[in-house]
Amino acid sequence: MNDRDAERQEALKKKHARTKRALKILGTVMVAAGLGLVVMGIVDMAASISNGEMPALFWGLRVGLPMLGFGGMFCMMGFRKELIRFSKDETVPIINEAGQEIVPAIGAVSGAVKHAEGDLCPHCGKANDDGAKFCRHCGAKLLTECPHCGESVKDGAFCDKCGNPLHK
Ligand SMILES: [Zn+2]
Ligand SMILES: [Zn+2]
Repeated sequence: MNDRDAERQEALKKKHARTKRALKILGTVMVAAGLGLVVMGIVDMAASISNGEMPALFWGLRVGLPMLGFGGMFCMMGFRKELIRFSKDETVPIINEAGQEIVPAIGAVSGAVKHAEGDLCPHCGKANDDGAKFCRHCGAKLLTECPHCGESVKDGAFCDKCGNPLHK
């Protein structure tokens, strides 16, 4: 009894696999043939229109389009297992990959924002362009010439280029 069931199951599986293979082959052939007919029909139609003639191979489109549709359907049915596996296996790496690309992009954007906020006026706290000598909002001095190394540096207690005190 159990053996017969298993046998029947096995036979069914084999039949199923055969059907699937037939669907794959039939689907692929139909897609290829349909695509060929559609392309032929379009090319012929374009050529006929530019020549001012009636398209002779218009049936290519009429036959090719449904063929393409059915072929696509058969392919979907035949390759369903592969498609499911593909979507299961492939979406995760795709998301991971997208994440790996998005994270540095977000980092770059926030870095740019930080950079834009970089030259904050110590007097009024508003942002100024890099290397601005005076605050454009309040006129405070942002850069000062170091008395030791002569560099234009951010105003503060010490020179950030040579480390010596900026003011006596
Ligand atoms: Zn200011
Ligand atoms: Zn200095």
